[in-house]
Amino acid sequence: MPTGESPKGNRNTKGQPGITQAALFGLCPCCGARGLWDGPANLADRCSACGQEFARFEPKGRGLYLVVLPVTVLLILAALKLDEAVQLPVWVLVPLWGVVVPLAVIGALRFAKTLLLMARLQKENVL
Ligand SMILES: [Zn+2]
Repeated sequence: MPTGESPKGNRNTKGQPGITQAALFGLCPCCGARGLWDGPANLADRCSACGQEFARFEPKGRGLYLVVLPVTVLLILAALKLDEAVQLPVWVLVPLWGVVVPLAVIGALRFAKTLLLMARLQKENVL
């Protein structure tokens, strides 16, 4: 049985997207408008609807390896497991991993960047 939400940190988040929506659909964490992403895993400069800056909060550089490396390891393990379970022909594997790998890496980067962006926005009391 759930004990209910803690009163600490309870904000009025009506109209604001959650982290999943922000990461996957590119919804602005402030106003919910589309346009958080400029590229596959690049934050836009600012929100076109509310003008909230994103690029300033974008994590860059080596910290992102912390996201990409575990994903890479997991993908390699998944590839080995899959190969153990079913021996798919190479012509299946190449397009399969050619789609799965970029999607997994971009997805992980989007989640990590959205998480950090929202944490930084909250720290500055924007959200
Ligand atoms: Zn916005």
